[in-house]
Amino acid sequence: MTDITMKEYIDEAEKDLLHTYNRFQIVLDKGEGVHLYDLDGKEYLDFVAGIAVFALGYGNKEYNDTLKGQIDKLIHTSNYYYNVPAVEAARALKKFSGMDRVFFTNSGAEAIEGALKTARKYAFLKDGKTDHEIIAMNHSFHGRTMGALSVTGNPHYREAFEPGIGNIKFADYNDLDSVKALVNDKTCAILLETVQGEGGLTPATEEFIKGIRTICDEKDILMILDEIQCGMGRTGYPFAFMKYGIKPDVLTTAKALGCGVPIGAFCMTEKVGQASLVAGDHGTTYGGNPLCCAAAAKVLEIMERDNIPAKAAVAGEYLWEKLEEVKAEFPEIKEHRGTGLMQGLVFDKPVNPIINKALEKGLILINAGSDIIRFVPPLVITKDDIDRMVTILVSAIRENK
Ligand SMILES: *Cc1c(COP(=O)(O)O)cnc(C)c1O
Repeated sequence: MTDITMKEYIDEAEKDLLHTYNRFQIVLDKGEGVHLYDLDGKEYLDFVAGIAVFALGYGNKEYNDTLKGQIDKLIHTSNYYYNVPAVEAARALKKFSGMDRVFFTNSGAEAIEGALKTARKYAFLKDGKTDHEIIAMNHSFHGRTMGALSVTGNPHYREAFEPGIGNIKFADYNDLDSVKALVNDKTCAILLETVQGEGGLTPATEEFIKGIRTICDEKDILMILDEIQCGMGRTGYPFAFMKYGIKPDVLTTAKALGCGVPIGAFCMTEKVGQASLVAGDHGTTYGGNPLCCAAAAKVLEIMERDNIPAKAAVAGEYLWEKLEEVKAEFPEIKEHRGTGLMQGLVFDKPVNPIINKALEKGLILINAGSDIIRFVPPLVITKDDIDRMVTILVSAIRENK
């Protein structure tokens, strides 16, 4: 196919699709392993994985065969009936996360919505009041629906859509005193990402996350950890909170849970499960359908069987070493943050020109904010892939001087 064909698709897309993204000027057509191919057949090394989604790499035969088999068997039924893949996916997710109860959603934002409803109901059942408050974090990202947006600590995303849901307060991430200052008798939940993704690849400090756990224990406040981006093996642990030896009351996951099919979940402890949402309180038509759950069950099986989190930890350490070398070479790189296969380089200028240069050279990267390059590759990348990525990255930075 020719350049003109790709350009024609792009022009048509710009006429037909609502312009809510400034898209890179390529049409992606297929994937294989850690590579993507555009309509012209040009190969790209993928260090984005659909933003931390395609953990297992493209074209995993076992995963694809599972989906094909489920398509021929049963794609959808209603949540008014049981289905086998949902039971298997819930069992596997409980084992992987250590949580007790699971509700499957269609997306990350919906998992956040469910977590917020859980917290409000839990508090309502205790005191019958309807003025409960939720503490969220500045620079957080929790999704684009009205509830998830209301707890997203980026005023720019929220402004035009105010008022959001009420009684949300924002504290500073990794500043325990700023959280303590907001806690009162109305507080029903403290919500944070274990590693902030969109907001800048910042892991929680041990003092911060354990301090929040303590506050929540003392006051019977629900600790909600959003691991939609940092969970599912990416930080070297099945879920990032496991590194700290703590456990949330409510956990959200999505992105890599389905590795490409739309599925998320909010999970909770048995204690919260027994004292929050009941029949009639929450529902979804698609959530937990057999097709998406078959995918999630298979992803979880492969993650556990093949020790994907441990492999991500090893690859993540190598990526860290290599990006430290890159940082040492270029004074315009101010900081290197993150953990596991979730890292970022903070520049003293906008990074999109570098990302576009890399794209020309066959490397897919993405930003987090305007001045950070984010690295969230498939969890199956090798040292060779990382070496090739760094070679292209370095030449893209050099040419952008
Ligand atoms: C992507 C993301 C979300 C939103 O997930 P969607 O599936 O896009 O709705 C929420 N929280 C975090 C931390 C995310 O990275």
